[in-house]
Amino acid sequence: GSLGSSLYVMLADSGVESTSKDPEVASSRLVPGQEQSSSSKRKKLVLLGTGWGGMSFLKDINTSLYDVQVISPRNYFVFTPLIPNVTNGTVEARSIAEPIRRMCRNRKKDVKLYEAECLDIDHNNKRLLCRDVSEVTVKGKEEFIVDYDYLVVAVGALSNTFGIPGVEKYCHFLKELEDASRIRDTIVDCFETASLPNLTDDERKKVLSFIIVGGGPTGIEFAGELHDLVHQDMAKLYPFLKDLVSVTVIEAVDHILNTFDARIQNYAERKFRQEGLNLKTNCQVKKVNEGEIVYLDHKSNREEIMPFGLVVWSTGLGTRPVVRDLMEQIGQGDRKVLATDEWLRVKGCNSMYALGDCATVEQRKIMEDINKLFELADKDKSGTLTVEEFKEMMEWARKRYPQIETFMKKKQLKDVRLLIKSAEASHTTDKTEVDLEAFKEAVAEIDSQMTRFPATAQVATQQGAYLARCFNRLPLESEGPEGPLRVTDEGYHRFQPFRYKHLGMFVPLGGEEAAAELPGDWISIGRSTQWMWYSVYASKQVSWRTRALVLYDWIKRLFFGRDSSRL
Ligand code: FAD
Repeated sequence: GSLGSSLYVMLADSGVESTSKDPEVASSRLVPGQEQSSSSKRKKLVLLGTGWGGMSFLKDINTSLYDVQVISPRNYFVFTPLIPNVTNGTVEARSIAEPIRRMCRNRKKDVKLYEAECLDIDHNNKRLLCRDVSEVTVKGKEEFIVDYDYLVVAVGALSNTFGIPGVEKYCHFLKELEDASRIRDTIVDCFETASLPNLTDDERKKVLSFIIVGGGPTGIEFAGELHDLVHQDMAKLYPFLKDLVSVTVIEAVDHILNTFDARIQNYAERKFRQEGLNLKTNCQVKKVNEGEIVYLDHKSNREEIMPFGLVVWSTGLGTRPVVRDLMEQIGQGDRKVLATDEWLRVKGCNSMYALGDCATVEQRKIMEDINKLFELADKDKSGTLTVEEFKEMMEWARKRYPQIETFMKKKQLKDVRLLIKSAEASHTTDKTEVDLEAFKEAVAEIDSQMTRFPATAQVATQQGAYLARCFNRLPLESEGPEGPLRVTDEGYHRFQPFRYKHLGMFVPLGGEEAAAELPGDWISIGRSTQWMWYSVYASKQVSWRTRALVLYDWIKRLFFGRDSSRL
């Protein structure tokens, strides 16, 4: 008897596809070449990638409902927030890696895992071309085809070089576990090389010049870690070199940590400058040559050259080739990441979903829905609603957009709250006609404040869990759809759209200090925040094994310092 169900009927009447004609279900029946497993009627669900998004999906998916196959070039999961800890030996590489097979066995998941890379996605025929990535081969590099009914793409992203010459060849990236181990070795190598007797002090300075390009959270955390390593450990082992070391951060815009609150930016910049780190903001790298980096300083408008022993490139994300090829096939060639709708369905494809760093959710504007609801509720097309209809529409809109509530609670959005309240207040009388202008104004304000999700583990994990929940309910829903939940351009969908819940963000700054931005405009900076960071990341470990190993590494570092062996 709610407005929701009457709107559903009206939408269905108006020709918009209903849930029972869901494109996913329909298309998966029609696609040629799809092979069902002879032993079971379960549909083939293929997952690409075993990072944050992939593992969160795998953790929650009910493997008795689907024939789940996982394809990933690495057979382990990495706890990426601790990768910078590996670069200076605070944590060992293996302490933050957990084998996928172990995770599946512990959670009693019935999955087939192929340690391979997906080279090509043929979305028309629902086929994947894959290749073994290991050194052990039987008939050369093994290539094979995998068919799917549903595909979940969670392959993450690459480091973005922006096509700048020399970056690929001379810089280190900080993305994978192997990168961190290589950086650790190179740092120690730089110190050992600088200790050789035949070098001048200028040559030593050059080899001990460490540059980080990119002042985002990863680059800044690494800079802090490096500073700690140099001053807490290397200074004791190489006292004759300690005054020759320099750590420089090059950032293209005005401030480092530019996605964080201004208070955190200012604190971090002040701290780094006091500790003697070089911060070069407004500087853009143009080229990297062997042993020297060329950048344009926008403040002086001059090109500068800086020698280096190690450069770590951490400037954002680029697209994996397999994703780029797919985007070209499906008309998304001009984009950097796959566009999905709010149900994580890849736009322009059937039965394909994407999450995490390789995808972005194109959020619908709330106003579009409100207008549509209004039009549908306005039965006599008079441009007005009755009070009852307005109230029902409001209820519907609030369920649809929990942000309306969240935004209303936020202090800085007092105006929006007042607008909505006054819009509501004016409709509590017995007037038969209501004017929605104030309400619409508030909604437009909310729309303008909606931002894209950041590329973080937090987003990928929530998306993986959301998608697994939808898949677990899919067989049930096909038999007895629970009815319309959401209105979209393509018609109703049986599930609520994905909604990201931001839980806050940390950035360690070195020297046992960290900064945190918490929901509700809270920030926290200092040593206590670093302890909060330790406890959060210890608790977030994916297994008791890695938790024990990480805690052991932290304690070991406290007593014995960091290990400077170059293995
Ligand atoms: P990933 O975790 O990158 O996983 C991608 C998976 O796909 C991998 O298993 C990969 O092997 C696999 N794959 C790649 N190519 C193919 C292919 N062709 N076929 C099949 N599989 C493939 N986020 C936070 O929220 N907090 C933090 O503190 C934080 N710190 C970070 C520190 C560092 C150093 C880095 C690099 C990232 C950090 N992030 C952090 C970001 C976070 O790690 C990413 O947002 C997250 O990993 C994205 O998850 P994903 O599943 O999309 O991709």
